[in-house]
Amino acid sequence: MKEKYDVVVIGSGMGGLVAAIILAREGKSVCVLEKNNQYGGNLQTFVRERTIFDTGVHYLGGLNEGQNLYRYFDYLDILDGLHLKKLDENGFDIITFDNDSDEYPHAQGYDNFHETLSKKFPEERLAIKAYCDKIRETCARFPLYNLQLGKPYHNDTELFKLPAKALIDSFTSNEKLRAVLAGSNLLYAGEADRTPFYVHALSVNSYIQSAYRCADGGSQITKMLLRKLKESGGEAYKHQEVTGFEVDNKTVVSVETSTGAIVKGDLFISNIEPKVTLKLLGTEHLRKSYVNRIEDIESTISAFSIHFVLKPKTFKYLNRNYYHFKNYKAVWNGHEYTQKTWPESYMVSMGARKDQGEWGDQMTAITYMRYEEVEPWAGTFNTVTHKNNRGETYEEFKRAKTETFLNELEKKFPNIRACIQSVHTSTPLSYRDYINCNKGAMYGYVKDVNNPLKSFLSPRTKIKNLFFTGQSLNMHGILGVTISSIVTCSEILGGEYLLNKILKGEKNNKSA
Ligand SMILES: Cc1cc2nc3c(=O)[nH]c(=O)nc-3n(C[C@H](O)[C@H](O)[C@H](O)COP(=O)(O)OP(=O)(O)OC[C@H]3O[C@@H](n4cnc5c(N)ncnc54)[C@H](O)[C@@H]3O)c2cc1C
Repeated sequence: MKEKYDVVVIGSGMGGLVAAIILAREGKSVCVLEKNNQYGGNLQTFVRERTIFDTGVHYLGGLNEGQNLYRYFDYLDILDGLHLKKLDENGFDIITFDNDSDEYPHAQGYDNFHETLSKKFPEERLAIKAYCDKIRETCARFPLYNLQLGKPYHNDTELFKLPAKALIDSFTSNEKLRAVLAGSNLLYAGEADRTPFYVHALSVNSYIQSAYRCADGGSQITKMLLRKLKESGGEAYKHQEVTGFEVDNKTVVSVETSTGAIVKGDLFISNIEPKVTLKLLGTEHLRKSYVNRIEDIESTISAFSIHFVLKPKTFKYLNRNYYHFKNYKAVWNGHEYTQKTWPESYMVSMGARKDQGEWGDQMTAITYMRYEEVEPWAGTFNTVTHKNNRGETYEEFKRAKTETFLNELEKKFPNIRACIQSVHTSTPLSYRDYINCNKGAMYGYVKDVNNPLKSFLSPRTKIKNLFFTGQSLNMHGILGVTISSIVTCSEILGGEYLLNKILKGEKNNKSA
């Protein structure tokens, strides 16, 4: 590691790595510092009994040639190295409910989406069409989502105040269809009274366009990004947790890492949550109003995930995801579960292998869990490199939750228990410790129609050479954080300049 870089990026999540590549290609010396043993943040995978599991990325949208994520990945020059498996065209997401054996598909391609769902709801063709039109119309208003230059979308206050549930409900009075249209809202932790429609639209649109899994896990994206970073002269170091900043005259001079390294830089980009960044920075360097504003932003809910290694040849691979609900209300209110009703909603996804055959070898099921449930063990810290037993009561908590969750899963997949070889779980503490996110938040900060500007954060901080990037800005998800890196780098390089480079598909233009 050198003593000084043009740009120091803190955290190697997707947002940090993309920003690092963009700036390294501009000829800047760039260094990424990552605390974990594995790069990639939520793109990390883990292996149990030779079976690969994703932790925070189960499918990607917009990856057909010419679509938005495809074009960003093309610019990043990582497409050739990715092994992708397209999910079922006629139902990449399946929405289901207790006491209803029917399955309601979300199909790929807007015409196909409309036709497939209209078969289930023949009386509702017009409503489904109006819903599709509204999604597309909304997404068209986000320039970078469409690789266009335009006004920053936070100026569009009217759009930010449109509530997702009320708008979706306005298309039809059919309760079931309303629930089906909103059925994948675990993707953005949608809430009835708060979630804006644009969050729903940007999330589902890219999957309706096309939906893929990363075969053998999402960490291949990280590997490709690191390769491209190195090809552009950038550097990345793991086991380098940033533990503090040295600030002089409202300028960051250097960061210190857990190994005692001091890394100086001209510019610093934090890919870690802004609340956490401020704690490391020291709030004395900032105006109290700015600190309070960031501290007051609410984080999204966390998750409890169970990962099953399946016995060989017992459970057929499902080339689609399932979103299941106890009832229609749980679609928007699943996060308000009680101990008696948990889990009210869940998502099931099976990882694909490069040579995926008929049988699945693993399954992940994710449901909401509030951080308060794991607060008794909040004082413990446990990752692969910092082993710290959280104690028998925690193990018992996980066993009990797994059993309850499994009972629910059995209603949808009656033979699942017999197919399980081993069970592995993650709680809000796992997400907190691996990602360093506030209270294990899944998707950064809550976006609220009642106060749209509250969670809006500029990539520019009040420290002149410190920038934010990642899922706490703009949107979460792989597409969302890729765009957040473009937004951050636009502040540094100029938006028009950067977008022109992306549009020209200029690869490896380090010396341009
Ligand atoms: C359960 C779950 C399922 C999801 N499913 C999908 C999906 O199917 N599709 C999709 O597109 N998105 C999905 N997402 C969202 C997506 O994974 C995230 O929005 C995205 O990966 C976040 O990227 P980021 O750039 O914000 O970085 P993060 O992933 O948040 O990474 C931040 C990095 O910073 C590092 N770090 C933190 N503190 C320090 C420090 N002090 N020093 C050095 N390094 C530090 C962390 O270790 C981490 O590597 C899911 C998320 C979750 C939680």
